Amino acid sequence: MTQFRAHPILSPVLGLEGYYEPASTDEALDILRQGSGNYKPFAGGTDVMINLRRRTVTYKGLVNIKRLPGITSWSNKAGEGLHIGAATPFGDLESSPSVTQRYSALAESIRVIGSVQLRNMATIGGNLCNASPAADSAPALIVSKATITFTGNGEGTRSCLVEQFFRGPGRSILDSDGLLLSLDIPEPEPNSGDCFQRFTPRGALDIGIASAASRVTLDQSSGRVLEAVIALGAVAPTPVRAVKAEEALVGHEPTSDLMAQAAKIAKEECNPISDIRGSASYRQALVEVLVRRTLEQAVERAQK
Ligand SMILES: Cc1cc2nc3c(=O)[nH]c(=O)nc-3n(C[C@H](O)[C@H](O)[C@H](O)COP(=O)(O)OP(=O)(O)OC[C@H]3O[C@@H](n4cnc5c(N)ncnc54)[C@H](O)[C@@H]3O)c2cc1C
Repeated sequence: MTQFRAHPILSPVLGLEGYYEPASTDEALDILRQGSGNYKPFAGGTDVMINLRRRTVTYKGLVNIKRLPGITSWSNKAGEGLHIGAATPFGDLESSPSVTQRYSALAESIRVIGSVQLRNMATIGGNLCNASPAADSAPALIVSKATITFTGNGEGTRSCLVEQFFRGPGRSILDSDGLLLSLDIPEPEPNSGDCFQRFTPRGALDIGIASAASRVTLDQSSGRVLEAVIALGAVAPTPVRAVKAEEALVGHEPTSDLMAQAAKIAKEECNPISDIRGSASYRQALVEVLVRRTLEQAVERAQK
């Protein structure tokens, strides 16, 4: 078995058996395997470090993945879309006009996350891997048809759609030794538009009580809806699609009445819990409002 050298200063400071900074994916996977589920990968640490401090979790070791090749960088190539390393901080994406001008829903979801300081640390991969039903980037990535590439679990490198990634609150298809490597977001189709909105009672530094993202593609000649994708956050055990609401839109002219009708259907499709932030019925009422507003905005953008 390969012996890895734990960081001599940070390991004792963090009270850990080992703190590692691997330089290759294979090395990271080996360390995680040797940790037998007790070693945690982390990127920005905005969730992991807080959990460690609050002692809500105990890890024997931490694996900082930010030195893995390509994991903190991203690119936008014509015809290929966005390729984003999993440990890219939101702040890097937020400051780029090529993201904000073409990927509206994603940009809108990033803008509401935490604060400027937080977004300079927090990464897009960490937001997904945390697998919170309220993860703000998830609905926008789902409607953008984003795919993720991941490795580990002894099965090599694979890809799937973001919507197939989540298994339940705090659970994803990654096992304890799995690593999310990158995300790919296709270029927006012609005559399409998208939008993300969330509701929080406070302006910032709070997670959403409910969120929605919508993407609409219109037929160029008739103006009718060719395709609609609607994703909801914080109203089910995982981020979810509102498939029946999507179906209600396809083939029709996107009138205000139709969008209001689809929003009502989405309200019935979600399955929220009641908690300290809001009751289930309040969340459902928010879904109806957010879906209607995001659809209207998405259609307006598609028509431009
Ligand atoms: C004050 C505050 C405000 C916040 N506001 C928001 C908000 O408005 N909206 C929102 O959605 N979130 C919010 N968050 C949550 C958090 O900041 C985000 O989820 C962030 O994107 C996590 O990214 P990270 O890189 O810091 O994750 P980390 O803390 O590094 O990791 C989070 C989880 O993902 C795993 N992980 C990270 N990267 C990988 C990888 N590549 N492969 C496998 N596993 C990985 C870790 O093991 C851990 O389980 C907030 C947090 C704080 C502290």
